Amino acid sequence: MKKRILSLILVFICVFTLPLTQSTVTAKSTKQKLKDVENKLEDKKDSLDSSKSKADDLSNQIESYDTKIEKLEKKIEEQESNKSKVEKSLEKAKKELKKAKEERKKYQDLLKERMEVMYMYGDTGYLDLIFSSENFSDLISKVITVQELVSYDQNIVKKLQDVEKQIQTKTDKIAKEKKELEDLISKLNSNKDDLDTLKIAKNAQLANVKGDIKDLKKEVEKLEAEQNELSNKLASQSGSSTNEIYNTGNGSLGWPTPGNYYVTSEQGYRYHPISGVYKYHAGMDIGLSYGDSVVAPANGRVTIAGWYGGYGYAVGIDAGLIKGKHVTILLGHNSSVKVSVGQKVRRGQTVAYGGSTGYSTGPHCHFEVHANGVTQNPRNWL
Ligand SMILES: [Zn+2]
Repeated sequence: MKKRILSLILVFICVFTLPLTQSTVTAKSTKQKLKDVENKLEDKKDSLDSSKSKADDLSNQIESYDTKIEKLEKKIEEQESNKSKVEKSLEKAKKELKKAKEERKKYQDLLKERMEVMYMYGDTGYLDLIFSSENFSDLISKVITVQELVSYDQNIVKKLQDVEKQIQTKTDKIAKEKKELEDLISKLNSNKDDLDTLKIAKNAQLANVKGDIKDLKKEVEKLEAEQNELSNKLASQSGSSTNEIYNTGNGSLGWPTPGNYYVTSEQGYRYHPISGVYKYHAGMDIGLSYGDSVVAPANGRVTIAGWYGGYGYAVGIDAGLIKGKHVTILLGHNSSVKVSVGQKVRRGQTVAYGGSTGYSTGPHCHFEVHANGVTQNPRNWL
């Protein structure tokens, strides 16, 4: 019985001492997990950025299709109105043609009739005509009249044939014009249909990308929450003084000046050391020595790298979405800058060296944070 109790005690000791002796190992694994989460987060943010730019591209394309479709619709409308004009003149020409044909036919029939009379009384027929005539003058008048009339009618028929031919040519020309317009309209319509099809396809793509963006935003938020949790866990595990100093806010950003934790001026209203005026201070000033490392407080992309007015040699970082807000960071008064615009930086990466350039009284790092364009107290994000 005593032996059993002793072994139980031993088990308890083992169970409870094991985690204690392995606390540094646990901290290391938390650090590793945090790193993994941060890597994943960076990847997702990159995907989100590329999805957003894809969505922008698609929207632009759709817009340009809309413009083109609108232009085509206008053109089609124009050509349709041209077509209806041409159709009207074609109808008119057809009527004219019909009338001309009728006129010509009337005279042709008349001519035929008179020719028949001519044949009937021509050559040998004259004798019959003579006997059928009441008198000589009647005969002469009959013969002359018929001959004259035939020649007159022949003339008229010829003229009418010319007129008919002209009208036929005109009608053919208008019909051809109408056919060309119809072809043009059908071509324009088919171009428009092609664009409509493309637009529908692009809209479907855009809907997909928008879905991706929604999913990615959710994933980013989830990873950020994980990152936050792990950062807090790491802080409690390592329990170092540095973490106690800066882990004052939501834990999203890292301290920008490792080894230098003395804050000479907080963000907010203060007496300005140079002007002596009570005024707003957009960032937090951390004392350091010339050449000390200034590091990126978050993963992101460099937007400013060089002289930046009163900020001296400054580094601006676009950290993307953090806690659902677009966060940008400015680190000012450095002696030199180590990065260049467009470069991707990781949290903790040295981006500049401490100094006192610009509007500054001594070496310090001016640490400024904006969320959705609004100045923040950096402490709320540390
Ligand atoms: Zn400052």
